[in-house]
Amino acid sequence: MLEPFTFEGVPSERPLLLAGPCSAESEEQIMSVAAQVKEMGIHIFRAGLWKPRTRPNTFEGVGKTGLPWLKRIKEELGLYVAIEVANVKHVYEALKHGIDIIWLGARTTANPFAVQEIADALQGVDIPVMVKNPVSPDVELWIGAIERINRAGISKLAAVHRGFSAYGRTLYRNNPEWEIPIELKRLIPDLPIITDPSHICGNRELLFEVSQKAMDLEFSGLMIETHCTPDQALSDAQQQITPEQLKRLLSRLVLRKPDIQNQMLLSTLEELRDQIDHYDDKLMEILELRMQVAEKIGEYKKQNNITILQTSRWDEVLRSRIEDGKKKGLDEEFIIKVFRAIHEESINHQTRIMNE
Ligand code: PEP
Ligand code: MN
Repeated sequence: MLEPFTFEGVPSERPLLLAGPCSAESEEQIMSVAAQVKEMGIHIFRAGLWKPRTRPNTFEGVGKTGLPWLKRIKEELGLYVAIEVANVKHVYEALKHGIDIIWLGARTTANPFAVQEIADALQGVDIPVMVKNPVSPDVELWIGAIERINRAGISKLAAVHRGFSAYGRTLYRNNPEWEIPIELKRLIPDLPIITDPSHICGNRELLFEVSQKAMDLEFSGLMIETHCTPDQALSDAQQQITPEQLKRLLSRLVLRKPDIQNQMLLSTLEELRDQIDHYDDKLMEILELRMQVAEKIGEYKKQNNITILQTSRWDEVLRSRIEDGKKKGLDEEFIIKVFRAIHEESINHQTRIMNE
């Protein structure tokens, strides 16, 4: 069902690298960045031609004008070229101009109608496809898009992890929510995952950290937006880096071994994993007890005819848990996530009791 996501002449060891600008802006701009990424040993060049922008009246890409430029990059520099396609017209243009790899953007993956139309257009075509995660943290929707493309007969597939939208200000432009690509890997172990630190971070400062984490999670590759003059880029200026900066980032990456040979290390690790299992057991026990209390509260509220959610109580719980968590060195965002989930589950237990 899936073929290895490998390319002739491209080393198969991790990480598979894709670099190039967010957008193709001019022939000169992409030729010069392509020459520089080639120089540093990268084989796959990315560039967006049709750009999905949040607001109108921003640069929406050069469109099909850029296709002959990419052809030049392919012919003159011998790089593989990859672009985003968001509709059937884009697919036909890409195929007509010999684009090597196409990808579905986050907004497209989120829309099954759009994905199906693209899948139908790909029926009988042999081209590698990458599917970015949908904007919302929904692993099923991501898998659904991958399945639609796979069922059209595309077997050279990869997933691109580019983070997920979140309301409000967070450290990242798109939260990585690592548990989602990890779950994808658990469900489809043969599907390579390529992390896109540029769209996760939205800035240059965190790129290395996110790239390293992707490598430590044994993901297969990295797609990093690269521009010769990032500050002047027409889209995503804050997150793009120069080829020189990319070279430095890559040279700092530590590639740890996926399996451990050393017996000593292995037994220490096993011991530590036993401890984790033990604490997880305890956590489960405590959660069970907590839910039992929630059910008692539900019964009490039912008998006395009062509503389930008392906002002031919930505000107070969250505030005090954050304060407590901080003293224990636990991250505020983490505490909020955990207690939101616990609270939601408590409400479910109470509701069940009240409706009995
Ligand atoms: C991109 O890769 O330039 C892009 C638009 O990405 P995403 O679909 O992840 O927003
Ligand atoms: Mn971009």
